[in-house]
Amino acid sequence: MLALAAAGCGGSDDAAIPSPTTEGTAAAPLPEGALSVVVSDPPLADLVARVAGPQVGVTSLVPMGADGHTYEPRPEDARTLAGADVYIENGLDLNNVVSSFALSNYPSGTPHYALADVISPDEVIATDSAEEIAAHGHAHNYNAHLWPDPVYARAYVNRIAEIMVEHDPANAAGYQERGAALVAELQGLDAAFASAIATIPEANRKMVVYHDSWSYFGRRYGLPVIGAIQPTDFSEPSAEELRNTIDEVRAAAVPAFFGSEVFPSDVLAVIEEESGSTYVADLSDDLLPGSPGDPEHSYVGMMVANVRTIVTALGGDPSGLDAVDPALS
Ligand SMILES: [Zn+2]
Repeated sequence: MLALAAAGCGGSDDAAIPSPTTEGTAAAPLPEGALSVVVSDPPLADLVARVAGPQVGVTSLVPMGADGHTYEPRPEDARTLAGADVYIENGLDLNNVVSSFALSNYPSGTPHYALADVISPDEVIATDSAEEIAAHGHAHNYNAHLWPDPVYARAYVNRIAEIMVEHDPANAAGYQERGAALVAELQGLDAAFASAIATIPEANRKMVVYHDSWSYFGRRYGLPVIGAIQPTDFSEPSAEELRNTIDEVRAAAVPAFFGSEVFPSDVLAVIEEESGSTYVADLSDDLLPGSPGDPEHSYVGMMVANVRTIVTALGGDPSGLDAVDPALS
């Protein structure tokens, strides 16, 4: 099921980029017969909209403000899917309810793609415990959050450009040009993130998180996720798990641990009080922060804000991120 992406597209690095839209269609009316691309989640829809440009309708199935893991599709989502020419999701079981709803509601024969297919099997991170893997001889569950790592996001963008070219070859040049410009921007992010994270004092270069969307990002930048608080079924941790987490956070001696507004939980205040580590609730991964039109309401803006938050909370110097921050340009 997993396959390496055939990467690569040409074009200039400084093409004009339309402002991305992830909620419904682009601001200008779409031309007659415009392609309609339905994308499972907002951060991925933003990447697709950047590559697709203003002549294509790009809609995120999971709406703003909803959590993509536990979102239950509504009747209007079936109508959105009925008009889809192409369906793009993350894959790796990010949300099986949304995936099977899409499969039964887009027109039969609609081409569908899983962007996480860009990862090679030896790079994928299992979420099963060591005991479960030993018992079965292999893992059954994988962390689906490739996109917070801008290097995987780049592979997503190359794949998106290929998909768009395949379904609309007449406009191939535009897709390739916008794809290449976004790839260049993500390369700049990767370099800026590596430099900013290198300013974190070495003893603090580790993350304790509530929702584990940071494992690929952490592996990329030498900032390993040493503990995730939320059980993998999105329930609240049990009293025993909570006790263990407090001990872990204390033993790790991290200045801060991280969560997101998508998953508020009362246990976080308890962990903060008992561990002496500060709870930072501002990370975004499954949802775009801000409102449509805000610079942070985009994949790039979201990730710069995330890395600024992480570097600052762990005692590093985030000023090197200014050069890549769309909120400051
Ligand atoms: Zn997530």
